[in-house]
Amino acid sequence: MPYKFTFDLSKIPRFFFTELTRMGYEKRMHRKVSAAIQDFIRKCKIQEATGLNLADAIQLLEDLVDLEARNLLEREKFKKTGRRALLLPHCARKYMDNRCKAKFEPDIPSYICAHCSEDCLINKAVSLAEGEGYDVYILPGSSCVPKILKFRNYEGVIGVACGEELKLAGKVLESMRIAGQAVPLLRNGCSNTFFNMQTLQRILKKNRELKRGGVD
Ligand code: SF4
Ligand code: SF4
Repeated sequence: MPYKFTFDLSKIPRFFFTELTRMGYEKRMHRKVSAAIQDFIRKCKIQEATGLNLADAIQLLEDLVDLEARNLLEREKFKKTGRRALLLPHCARKYMDNRCKAKFEPDIPSYICAHCSEDCLINKAVSLAEGEGYDVYILPGSSCVPKILKFRNYEGVIGVACGEELKLAGKVLESMRIAGQAVPLLRNGCSNTFFNMQTLQRILKKNRELKRGGVD
């Protein structure tokens, strides 16, 4: 389910994300962060930078902090997992029309990237994650998550999507006792969306050593 508003955090300075991580840690420690989030919105001029009203900015940041807190909570469990998958959102493809050569396989259900565009985010993420031994799926929506996970016995799953979709997917993972790590979209809108490749790369790398038994 998409947010009722669109946002673009792709040009926000690095400090914003460092601070988000700090607040995620605070939240994990069960400290109240609501007041801090409002201060942070003012300090970083998030409304001016994104055009969001205060209520939407609060919802967006609360979701990002929650996802960060959950990543921290699940990290150790995730590190110990063997069989893993990466779930990517179809909206981050370079093209949403027939210039994208990915084929949709309804039985999986997933798009299969044809690697037609070198600078496509999905192309880069697929190559990166497959190189790390992940099975990769490109989904039209979070409703595909249970079907993909049901019979494939994954122990760890990384999800890339907007906060709303990640929250829904997180509930599915929780019910199936699968460890999760989330990479939130920094620009939503259901097409031409954006996520930070370095963030994904960091999560893949951070968890690499244990997955391979400490041997690189
Ligand atoms: S690289 Fe893959 S996902 Fe991107 S536009 Fe081409 S086929 Fe579609
Ligand atoms: S922005 Fe992408 S992940 Fe979020 S609801 Fe739209 S299509 Fe799904």
